[in-house]
Amino acid sequence: MNVILIGAQGSGKGTQADLLAGELGLPHVSSGDLFRQAMAEKTELGLKVKTYMDRGELVPDDLTVAMILSRLAMPDCARGVILDGFPRTVAQEQALDEGLHNVGKQIDLVFYLEVPREELLVRLSGRYICRANQHVYNVNTRPPKTPGVCDIDGSLLYQRPDDTGEAVQRRLNIFFSETIYLLDYYRDQGKLVVIDGNRPIEQVRASLIEAIQSR
Ligand SMILES: [Zn+2]
Repeated sequence: MNVILIGAQGSGKGTQADLLAGELGLPHVSSGDLFRQAMAEKTELGLKVKTYMDRGELVPDDLTVAMILSRLAMPDCARGVILDGFPRTVAQEQALDEGLHNVGKQIDLVFYLEVPREELLVRLSGRYICRANQHVYNVNTRPPKTPGVCDIDGSLLYQRPDDTGEAVQRRLNIFFSETIYLLDYYRDQGKLVVIDGNRPIEQVRASLIEAIQSR
């Protein structure tokens, strides 16, 4: 089963994708993680990606689509995948459909985690990530036991450049002016399920599982 999670930055889709992946035994493929990995390894693609991310801009479709399709061709994705952060545009979703069609696959289910913009800003302004393993904390809603230090591995916490001030506003603007149009595309195909993401993690998780089981 190939599932897409759509949601703005801060909607909780990364957390939910992890939970779903565990529950269904499928890999969680995040475009953000693939980008960060390529940047850390300083691959040619990674260096190109970095120039866009540093400016708080979205990475162009051709780079993103190539990276995702090569990841989906790996053996661990044969039974399906939980996609998080991709596709972001109608052009990307058409390229994804075409790429999957070429290998006899398709997208089965698309979730939209709906969270109001004001709530997203509160969540994002308090978000800190640990250096070692990218564990996520929030000074407002989920603080670490010791300020500035990860509970799990003891590494230092930091804010990603794209989680602060103007970069957040810019990314939310892009989401609500462009990415939101993806929903129509999947709604027309009868694959879209809208989930109220403005609830505790466990309730959102339960709604996602229920929707999958009812298919
Ligand atoms: Zn950690």
